[in-house]
Amino acid sequence: MTFENNFVNWVHATMPTTAKALLPNGDDAALLSSSPRGTLVATDMLLDGTHFVVGQTPPELIGRKSVAVNFSDIAAMGGTPDSIFISLAVPHSTCPKWLERVMNGAAEMAREFNCGIDGGDTNSWNGPFAINVCVVGRPHWRGPASRLGAKEKDVVMVSGRRLGDTLASEHHLNFTPRIKEAQWLLDHFEIHSMMDLSDGLASDAPRLAKASAVKIVLEVEKIIPSPWDAKDLRSALCDGEDFELLFTCSHANAVEIEHNFPWSCGIRRIGTVEKGEGVYLLHPKQTEAQLLDLHGYEH
Ligand SMILES: [Mg+2]
Repeated sequence: MTFENNFVNWVHATMPTTAKALLPNGDDAALLSSSPRGTLVATDMLLDGTHFVVGQTPPELIGRKSVAVNFSDIAAMGGTPDSIFISLAVPHSTCPKWLERVMNGAAEMAREFNCGIDGGDTNSWNGPFAINVCVVGRPHWRGPASRLGAKEKDVVMVSGRRLGDTLASEHHLNFTPRIKEAQWLLDHFEIHSMMDLSDGLASDAPRLAKASAVKIVLEVEKIIPSPWDAKDLRSALCDGEDFELLFTCSHANAVEIEHNFPWSCGIRRIGTVEKGEGVYLLHPKQTEAQLLDLHGYEH
């Protein structure tokens, strides 16, 4: 028996499944029950040397992160993940136990959100380790949140207590995708637009502004605790891999959200939406905001 056969048998015996998969794991294709409101699908590939470092990053955290970044995209739509599919490019020299530890990390994150690992593929080759996860999920009963609906006079909000410093703090490896938080927001409030912060506010906020055809003004004092610290500001704007929710809603709802948000990660207002285009930064004691000309992390 080849390494791949042994590994696939281990996967079938070990990985979580749910009632959403209508056939046992191991057939040519998975059969999933469908949702009347449509199906959310997201995929993200993570590479050795870019998103983690084999030999430095514990394998469980590689698997965990690979699933969590995909869950963050489902969270950004206010959805619920149901099934994941994992494809692995594995160097010939890889120890089977190491690969099992990667999958155990993936399975732990999947179980945390009651999601099955319902298929995938494994190939060994001479190149570096790569892992691709595809996630399938259901939209919120209100429909999907999207990047398209930010309105003039909206408030811009972000989940989490801080942005940036995601590499040194290892937040990029051990963050919790904001699935429950996003669902709570959609359960109780009209959320006009939403996305997750994967490349940093400096890259992601312009995407939201462009998709909604609006101008966003971000207040430095609300982004970081010490607004004169240029290094901190750059880190909050550009480090990337925050995996927090960035969203907009009416002023009245923003006040209610800040007051009633029940999750420990915290939530705060960081800016406003205006008529126009682009993303601007308002520094303390300035009356005119300046165009944000930094860029976040580019994968
Ligand atoms: Mg995203």
